[in-house]
Amino acid sequence: MSLKILVYVGRSGKDCALGLLEDYLMTDATCIFCKIIRGEIPSKTIYQDDDCIIIEDLHPIAKYHYLLIPKQHYPTIGQMNDEEAEMLMRSIRRIPELSELLHLENGYRLVINQGEDAGQTVLHLHIHILAGQPLDFKC
Ligand code: AMP
Ligand code: ZN
Repeated sequence: MSLKILVYVGRSGKDCALGLLEDYLMTDATCIFCKIIRGEIPSKTIYQDDDCIIIEDLHPIAKYHYLLIPKQHYPTIGQMNDEEAEMLMRSIRRIPELSELLHLENGYRLVINQGEDAGQTVLHLHIHILAGQPLDFKC
């Protein structure tokens, strides 16, 4: 464990070891969304705060397609703790506040894929935000 942390400190180039340790403990070393959150791979970031990041989806299926990604790593709703649930609800309430920035004025759809049958491909919970056009396919 201590060796892993040292490797991570060396790679990041940041100077605050405590902050790094905190980041490390709440993220997953191999998860693609955790890598985005740590700034290790690029993304088109639209918004971020202490709880979450909102990025453009790499393969949009609507005119505007964002992903709201909690900064804590947990795969599904079933695996989050009470604190993470509170953070997620705070983040969901941010969405209408960001209506202009995200082009949500005419309505939007939130989708959370959970598990294999739903087609979840990234096992770090995230909310798809779809907007900017009539969403013909109805749930
Ligand atoms: P899901 O199928 O619900 O797990 O959604 C995963 C989403 O992540 C898909 O819509 C992908 O297009 C998107 N995605 C995967 N990798 C990236 C990335 N590096 N940057 C932005 N979006 C991504
Ligand atoms: Zn993750």
